Formats: sequence, structure tokens, C-alpha cells
Amino acid sequence: MQQNKTKVIIAGGGTAGWLTAYALAKRLGSLLDITLVESDQIGTVGVGEATIPTMRSFHQLMEIDEREFMRATQATFKLGIEFNNWGGVGESYVHSFGAIGQTTWLTEFHQYWLAANAQGFGGSLEDYCLELKAAKASKFALKAGKTPVNYAFHLDATAYAQFLRQKSEAIGVNRVEGKIVETKLNPSTGDIQSLQLDKNRELNADFFIDCTGFRSLLLGEALNVEYENWSHWLASDSAQAVQTKSTEPPIPYTKATAHSAGWQWKIPLQHRTGNGIVYSSQFCDDAAAQKTLTEHLSGDTLTQPRVIKFTTGMRDIAWKKNCVAIGLANGFLEPLESTSIHLITTALIRLMRLFPFAGNSAPLADRFNRETRFEWEAVRDFIILHYKQTRRDDSDFWNYYRTMAIPESLAHRLELFKEQGYVWPDAVNLFRVDSWIQVMMGQGLFPESRHGAGHILPPQALQAQLEKLKAFVANNLAQMPSHSEFIAQYCAATEQS
Ligand SMILES: Cc1cc2nc3c(=O)[nH]c(=O)nc-3n(C[C@H](O)[C@H](O)[C@H](O)COP(=O)(O)OP(=O)(O)OC[C@H]3O[C@@H](n4cnc5c(N)ncnc54)[C@H](O)[C@@H]3O)c2cc1C
Repeated sequence: MQQNKTKVIIAGGGTAGWLTAYALAKRLGSLLDITLVESDQIGTVGVGEATIPTMRSFHQLMEIDEREFMRATQATFKLGIEFNNWGGVGESYVHSFGAIGQTTWLTEFHQYWLAANAQGFGGSLEDYCLELKAAKASKFALKAGKTPVNYAFHLDATAYAQFLRQKSEAIGVNRVEGKIVETKLNPSTGDIQSLQLDKNRELNADFFIDCTGFRSLLLGEALNVEYENWSHWLASDSAQAVQTKSTEPPIPYTKATAHSAGWQWKIPLQHRTGNGIVYSSQFCDDAAAQKTLTEHLSGDTLTQPRVIKFTTGMRDIAWKKNCVAIGLANGFLEPLESTSIHLITTALIRLMRLFPFAGNSAPLADRFNRETRFEWEAVRDFIILHYKQTRRDDSDFWNYYRTMAIPESLAHRLELFKEQGYVWPDAVNLFRVDSWIQVMMGQGLFPESRHGAGHILPPQALQAQLEKLKAFVANNLAQMPSHSEFIAQYCAATEQS
């Protein structure tokens, strides 16, 4: 093992760059000499404001104090996503982060609920999930009674990068302001040797992390790693983002409302609301998308709508030679389930576990690449489900999605659910059974038959069990304060911008 610190350069200072800088400095700082280079001239993508609950465990690992982070980023709590108009126009469901009912080793809770419904009792599946009920009632607490609540955050993306930058610089990350104009390769090994910056500056390192966003300057451009295009499954290639003044106290969930040629997000923060529309240029031009977006805004606009173009997919490999790409430099899946920041954090954990301390290592890179692909494909399938499982036939956009061929992995999953309601967690365990169930049933897919477990108990006993579970949720819900009250006492931001 070498004695000198390994020199690491992080190219790019968006959410990916600063999360990388902070995590590496915090956990491997005594072994690494870390420099981050970013260009104010170029700026960041400036979106990415909804998260999933895994962010909490990442913050705990990195000793990021929740209240400090929430105050600094004007954050609110997020208990799930409300999907409007997805299965059919006028329909609505919530994909919440909570567990639904109680599972047994034999089968999942929804099987008991399906059996009850077939016998005329059991009510709505929603009544068995505390997080879902709390979202709809705009309530929040870290715990309800003794039950921990599963939550994530909405945050101001620019403020988050600044927060991480301050923390990173405080623990020794060196920041260089400058534009990368060339990536120099070692002619004999093909490794990256240095980054050439404007004003004739040059930065050398042992290992490079490409966080340059969609440009993918190091991995894509310099090392020529191809991009695998998934837009035949996820056709959207454009988004427009706009910020508005809030017109109501922040709700503890994201809204994803489908339109005839795309969908619109609404993300409530403490000081403003983030909005945007995601669409495909194949079915809708920028002007029409902007019209739809602005027609559905509530509150005065604080910014002009900004168009962002992208291609859904991922690089063939994320790590080549002495360079790994993290964040948008490695790929993009549209923000329907708010998974990009999560994918940054899992990539960082993977990188820290596989870091090539003894120099460049192909087997370590290979393992990293296999795990990355596994993870991205699982998330991709879950997102495709939202588009494929629709009865909408009111536009070319929905007709395309409803009738398109889907990956075999997803087809297999849908077939098993249709057959007998069988669901299992995805390969990397990100989306749990309850997530799949909420989206499948929320969009109108119900099993044709069911597991026998729900019929083992006599109906009266099953009904009594279900009533107990519902009462447990209702009692816990009754103890929770409103989301706004909770924020006010827990993490109110001092600066209003
Ligand atoms: C429309 C949209 C909505 C999204 N919503 C969500 C969401 O709700 N939740 C979520 O988790 N994610 C979301 N994302 C993804 C999220 O925004 C990104 O994953 C996250 O911001 C990380 O971006 P990044 O740091 O990889 O890239 P960027 O923010 O683009 O940063 C790139 C950095 O590289 C620097 N750079 C580039 N070229 C050079 C150069 N030549 N020299 C020097 N520096 C350079 C730039 O200055 C910048 O600092 C969304 C993305 C889009 C497009």
C-alpha cells in the first residue's frame, strides 16, 4: 500500500461533484488529497430538488446534521409522490414511502387485503399506511407514537451544493475555479494524466472523478465511453423548470401530474415552489410544453422557464482506466421517482468500498460497473412501469407508451403480478414490494387471482386483524402535528430568498 496520499481530482461542482468531494474527504480524507475544479461560467443544471428516504442514511453515514441541512436548503419533508392522471385522466394515487399493513413470511399484506376485498370488507389499501395518510392530511412527525416515519426531503438544489461546498472546504477539499479545456491522456497507458484548464493551468492526479454533468467531459469525451440510449422506453428528452411563489403551506409530498404529452412536477420548499414539465420533442414542441406548464402553475413565477435537453440512458461503463463518472456524467433517468441523487450516493458508497488504493485496478472497476448497471436497470424498469401501465389513449404520447415493447425484466414482473399478485423487491432492493404494489394498483393493474394465504383465517378473524391495523394507523395519525407546525419548530430556515 502506498504511503503518500492518492491525488484525486473531481471535475465539476454540481450536486454530484460536491457530494463526492464531501463524502471522500469525510470518510477517506486522511488517505486522499482532493481537488475539485468547477466553472462558474458554465454553472450547474440547477434542478434535482426531490429525494427518496435513502438520503437520510447517507447523511447519517456522512455525519450531516438533519436540522442544519434542512435550514440551509429551505427543505421540507417528503412522504411520497402523488401521481395524477397516470392510469387514466382524473385518477390519482400516492406512492408513499411507508410500509402498508403487515406482511407475513408466506406472503405480502396486499394478498390479505385482496382476499378481504373479495369478501366485501377491508376498505381502502391507503388506510393501512401511515405515511400515505399523513401525506394526504399534510401532517408530519419523525415518529408517530413509537412508530418511526419513513421520509425524504424536498430541497433547494443550489443551496444544497453550496452547503456541501462549505462543509467540504472546511475539511480540506481544495477548490479550483476554472474551465477544463482539454483532458490529457497518457500515450502509453491511455489513463487520464491531467486536466488542462484555461489560463494555461494544468491539474495532475492519480484518479479522476467525472462530475461534469451531461457533458461527460472525461469519461464520455476523452475516454470515449459510449452512451446506451434508452429513449425507446423513456421517450422524454426535454424539461422546463420554473420557480414560483408558494400559495399555500408546503405539503409533505411531490406532485407528478400527467398531461397529454408529458408530466409536470411540483416540489414545495419552505421559501418557494419548484415546478417543471418533462416531455418528448417527438410529441410536443418547447412552446407547447411551456404553455401547458404555465397554465398549470399556481403562484407568481420567480424565474423564467428554462429548457433542459437530455437523453435517457447510461454510459456503457461508469469506470474506465483511472476515471469514474458520477451523476449526470454517467447517465440520466427522468426525475419521476426522484432517483438521481440517490444514484449519486450509492455510487459514492460503492466507490469508497472499491477505491483503487494500490493504483489502477481493472477488477475493481469491473465490479463497480456490474453493480452500477444492475442498479440503473432496476430503477429504469420501475420508471417505465408508470408509462406502460396506463389506459390513456387520448394522445400519440400515451398511445406510444401504452403499446410499446418493454424490457423482458419488467414484462416478467407484470406477468407475475397479473397472474397471482406476486411481487418481489427489485434486484438492488431500492423499490420495495409496497412501491411496486402502489404503482401497479394505483395505475389500474390488479391481479386476476391471488395467493391463498388470505383465505386461511376465517373471514371474521381476518376482518378483526385488518380493523386493528387500520386503527393503529388512525391513532398514530391523530398524534401527528401539521407539516408546517413541525417544520416551524424543527428546521425553519432563517433566510428567506
Ligand atoms: C429536469 C430535471 C429534473 C431533475 N429532478 C431531480 C429530482 O427531483 N431529484 C433528483 O434526485 N434528481 C433530479 N434530477 C437530477 C439532478 O439534477 C442531478 O442528478 C444532480 O443535480 C447532479 O447533477 P451533476 O452534478 O451531475 O451535474 P451538473 O449540476 O450539471 O454539474 C456539472 C458541473 O460540471 C461543471 N463543468 C462542466 N463542464 C465544465 C468545464 N469544461 N470546466 C469546468 N467545469 C465544468 C459545471 O460547472 C458544474 O459545476 C433532475 C434532472 C433534471 C434534468
